[in-house]
Amino acid sequence: MSHVRVRFAPSPTGYLHVGGARTLFFNWLYAKKLGGTLVLRVEDTDQVRSTRESEKMILSDIQRLGLDYQEGPDVGGPYAPYRQSERLSIYADYVRKLLEQDRVYYCFCSDELLTQKREAAMKMGRTPHYDGTCARQNKEEALARLTRGEKAGLRFRAPQKSYVLNDHVRGRVEFKEGMVGDFLVTRTPGAGEKEIAEGIGFPVYNFCCVIDDHLMGMTHIIRAEEHLSNTVRQLMLYEAFGWAAPDFAHIALVLGADRQKLSKRSGDVSVFEYIEKGYLPEALLNFLALLGWWPPTGFKPASGHPEVLSLPELIENFNLEGLQKAPGVFDVQKLQWMNGFYIRSMPLAEVAERAKIHFERAGFNLRDHSEDWFLRVIEVVRGESTLLSDLPKAAQLFLESTPHLEPEAKTALSEPTAHSVVEAMVAELKSQTGPLLVEEVDALPKKVSSKSGVKGKSLYMPMRAAVTGKVHGPELKLILPILGRDSVLKRIEALLSQSR
Ligand code: GLU
Repeated sequence: MSHVRVRFAPSPTGYLHVGGARTLFFNWLYAKKLGGTLVLRVEDTDQVRSTRESEKMILSDIQRLGLDYQEGPDVGGPYAPYRQSERLSIYADYVRKLLEQDRVYYCFCSDELLTQKREAAMKMGRTPHYDGTCARQNKEEALARLTRGEKAGLRFRAPQKSYVLNDHVRGRVEFKEGMVGDFLVTRTPGAGEKEIAEGIGFPVYNFCCVIDDHLMGMTHIIRAEEHLSNTVRQLMLYEAFGWAAPDFAHIALVLGADRQKLSKRSGDVSVFEYIEKGYLPEALLNFLALLGWWPPTGFKPASGHPEVLSLPELIENFNLEGLQKAPGVFDVQKLQWMNGFYIRSMPLAEVAERAKIHFERAGFNLRDHSEDWFLRVIEVVRGESTLLSDLPKAAQLFLESTPHLEPEAKTALSEPTAHSVVEAMVAELKSQTGPLLVEEVDALPKKVSSKSGVKGKSLYMPMRAAVTGKVHGPELKLILPILGRDSVLKRIEALLSQSR
């Protein structure tokens, strides 16, 4: 196979959507797997909706995900510029070619008129194709109108025949003759927009996309299924220019929990928000990859869980055959579960490093503690955390200066035998000096039990409540050595005074 070249082509009209991130990731995986090149192309010809801020946000979200590309507006490359708004003169050349070959004609119909026509056609149960008004106008007439200052776009004469696409995901897709009417390759410039060259309007997505995909040497187009209806138009343009079309893989939709196309209505959809909330990019990418792709049967990830694949495993196993036809459902609970799995299984130091920002945001100052202490805290609390941002709350008891007694813990401490349990525990802890070591802590419940005569839940609950102020959480034997003898005794005193 020739050198694989793929692209991610976002329109900078907002943030990076999780659906877009999935498209990007599939392209990234494919390029990595085959040693190919990933190009980032900014499709900003919709000048009303496109902004530089959005482009910046998208590029920074891609970086946060840890994904790279070899060519793009910020990194350059042999096919620069990579922003469509900077490629207008290139498009103008190709528009002229179509004009010379009479493959396009001037269309003077205004947006309002086109909308009216479309609505009327739909009301009568007809496919809302362009009705051909301007196709019938001869060139001289059109040029005269242009000279009089009228503005026009250019409409491509859609060949009346069927097209077949052999899609890597959808298989054989036939676009029947007449499915598509004449479509615009350039439109009348909007307010504040200049024509790319006199009398040829402003180019639109379907046109720019074909020119760029061809000139930039794309071998495979991996993109969302919703573009299938554009694909037939694009095939027509490839044919008109006499170019071979690249391979296509149209990936299935992502649905929300409501089984509708994933949108803001169904919850968070921006990559930025997920990462801000404490999702790990690795977990998010793993989750997104399995929304529409499946590893080859029989593959067993090293994680021990069939759905938790490391990045190298994803790269190694990625193939277009594994892309699924059925839509994927964005199940946030599953993503949370996966994130928890990553938090538990990632190298401890890595989780600790990434958690720091969330401790800062929660108002905890880590400067008074050693790195080693912090690692031990994270080790103890990561088991019960789903998001990185859950870690500070779970670690609160190690960081708070005044412990807080929760109502359930207060109840546990008011049990008739609780007093003697706590008294015995304090006595035991005071009977020794120096650091509180694991061995001592291990032996503690037995000693407290024999001293107080209390066993089971009535023993463990008050012990835990007296130190942590809670009835749930990590095991006491993990907590106590980190807190240390003095701090444990001080906490017991403070919590007991709150329980009275
Ligand atoms: N700019 C298009 C979008 O954001 C990409 C289309 C394509 O990949 O061809 O949906």
